[in-house]
Amino acid sequence: MEILKGGAASGRIKEEVAAMLEKMGGTAPKLAIVRVGENPDDLSYERGAKKKMENFGLRVQSFAYPKEISHEEFMREFQKVNEDQDVTGILLLCPLPGQIDQKKVAAAIDPAKDLDGISPVNAAKVFAGDREGFAPCTAEAVMEVLKTAGISVRGKRVVIVGRSMVVGRPLSMLMLQEDATVTICHTKTVDLPAVCREADILVAAAGRAKMLDGNYVREGAVVVDVGINVDENGSLCGDVDFQSLEGKAAAATPVPGGVGTVTTAILARHLMRAAQKK
Ligand code: NDP
Repeated sequence: MEILKGGAASGRIKEEVAAMLEKMGGTAPKLAIVRVGENPDDLSYERGAKKKMENFGLRVQSFAYPKEISHEEFMREFQKVNEDQDVTGILLLCPLPGQIDQKKVAAAIDPAKDLDGISPVNAAKVFAGDREGFAPCTAEAVMEVLKTAGISVRGKRVVIVGRSMVVGRPLSMLMLQEDATVTICHTKTVDLPAVCREADILVAAAGRAKMLDGNYVREGAVVVDVGINVDENGSLCGDVDFQSLEGKAAAATPVPGGVGTVTTAILARHLMRAAQKK
């Protein structure tokens, strides 16, 4: 089984970003990471994103607010970041605490700075097949991993487990744009293993540790694991039981070191695109 590590795609994007930076000259674009509270998952994602931006030669600044902040106060603070001329792009760490209306924040973000595609404007562009918008970084990272490995999705049967607006749905649209035949699964899907076994390319984005094993995979299929979970020993793991794929799947992405590595590289690419448009 071929292991599709994210490092290859990430390295390719790093070179692309370096070339764009050189061409652009002047001050490097700046990413604003907006966080409410101290959720360990958010802090870990923020650390990873910061490291990647700095490694790519890009600027990054965190804007952190207490978890008790009111909706009104947060909207005022968020608007300042939104209008800051020195901020090229924004990454809002979600989910936000319950008192903040996430939909209103998503509607308020400047679509030109919305690097992770949360604004309704960018979501509509993704669903309309307009490549000018920003797709969610994770969905785009899945496409990039496949592209870097030379795996075309055209005409292939793609099964995606998960229908969130962050991964499953936008990814299904990106797959359609590349002429895949797409099935989206969720908790009400009947006989999930049988549906998954129809896949040439199986994407796991359910957020359930090691839920999909070899029984869900057809011989020779490609498996992309988007999940980031913690297993019974406290170690990071995906939605796929990686060991059980051996001798069955043709290729699979590991966790960690797979899609997640590419997600932050895509964020950097989006930051450069936002800077170019500016
Ligand atoms: P959500 O919880 O928003 O969505 C999960 C989806 O999976 C839902 O559509 C749900 O169905 C479906 N699902 C859950 N359990 C099952 C099941 N037993 N059978 C079938 N379908 C199921 O999660 P996200 O989309 O935000 O994230 C998914 C995973 O990806 C998580 O592990 C997350 O940590 C990871 N992630 C990774 C990123 C990266 O950079 N690699 C970035 C973002 C997320 P239903 O709609 O019916 O409830």
